[in-house]
Amino acid sequence: MHNSFIKTLILILILASVTTADAFSLRKRVSVTATKEIITASLPEPLPFNAVLTDSIVKINTLKIIIPISDYLRLIDFSEMPEEYDIWSDTKINPYQVNLVDMKDTVKIDMSSFYSPVQSYVTSNFGFRRWRHHYGIDLKVHRGDSVYNAFDGVVRITKRARDYGYYVLVRHFNGLETLYAHLNKITVNPGDTLKAGIPVGLGGNTGRSTGYHLHFEVRYLGNPINPNDIIDFNSFTLKNQILVLNAQHFEYKKEIEKIRFWTVRSGDTLGRISQRTGISIARLCALNGIKRTSILRIGQRLRYT
Ligand SMILES: [Zn+2]
Repeated sequence: MHNSFIKTLILILILASVTTADAFSLRKRVSVTATKEIITASLPEPLPFNAVLTDSIVKINTLKIIIPISDYLRLIDFSEMPEEYDIWSDTKINPYQVNLVDMKDTVKIDMSSFYSPVQSYVTSNFGFRRWRHHYGIDLKVHRGDSVYNAFDGVVRITKRARDYGYYVLVRHFNGLETLYAHLNKITVNPGDTLKAGIPVGLGGNTGRSTGYHLHFEVRYLGNPINPNDIIDFNSFTLKNQILVLNAQHFEYKKEIEKIRFWTVRSGDTLGRISQRTGISIARLCALNGIKRTSILRIGQRLRYT
C-alpha cells in the first residue's frame, strides 16, 4: 500500500517534468522563429522577383511587424543611403532641398521587394496637365479597396492635406520614397516598419480629387520619378529589378522650367496675347486646349511655350 503510493508519486513527478520540458522547448522554438522573422523584415534578402511576389501574396494581411525606428536604423547599411536621409520629417514631403536635374552620380537601387500598390487601370498619367505638372500616376480604385505598400520600409508621414486628402508617405530601405494619396482611411502610423504588400490604407476620394482613385508617387531624395520608368502598369510588375537612377530620370524638370504662362488681364484677347508673346493664335489654342472663340477669364493662365 505504502509502496504503491510512492510509485504513483514518482510517476506523477516524471510526467510533470516531461511536460515542463516540452513547454520550455516549445517556447524556445517560438521565440527563435519570431526573432528570425523580425530580422527578415528589416533586411530584405534580394531574391528572384517572382519568389518575392509570391511570398508577399502569402503574407498579405497576416504580417505587420512594427520595429522602433532606432532598431531599424541600427540594422540598415547606411553607406548606400544618401546623407540627406539623415533628415526625418513627419510633416514635409520633400524636406531635402536637393535638385537632381544635373545629378552626376548613378545610383543603384534594389527593387526586389516590390509589390504593386493596386492592380487596376491608369486614369491619369505622370506628366503635363494644362498648367501644372502631375507628379504621380492615378490608378482606379473603388471605395475601400486595399492600397498596398510598394517596397519594404518605414512610414514617415500620415496626414490629411487639402490637395492630397488623406495620404501616406513611406521611406523605403532601398532609398526610394512612395506616396499614396486621396485615401479613404489610413491604416498605419508614422514609424511603422512595413513589408511590401502590407496595406497602408483604403482607396478613397479625399482632397482635390474627382472620383475614387489612388494618386501614387515615387520619389528619390524628394524628387519625383515617373512611375512608368520603373513599373509596367499593364502587368503590375517591375521593368527592372535594379533601378539605375541617373540625371535622365529628372530630364522632365527641364521641360517644366521652359514653360511660360500668360495671366489674362482685363481687355486681353487671343490676338493681343499672340502679339505680346510672339506665339500664333493657332499655337496658343493647341497648347491650352481652347478654341479661337473661347472666352478668356481674367486671371486665367495660358501656356505660351
Ligand atoms: Zn494624381
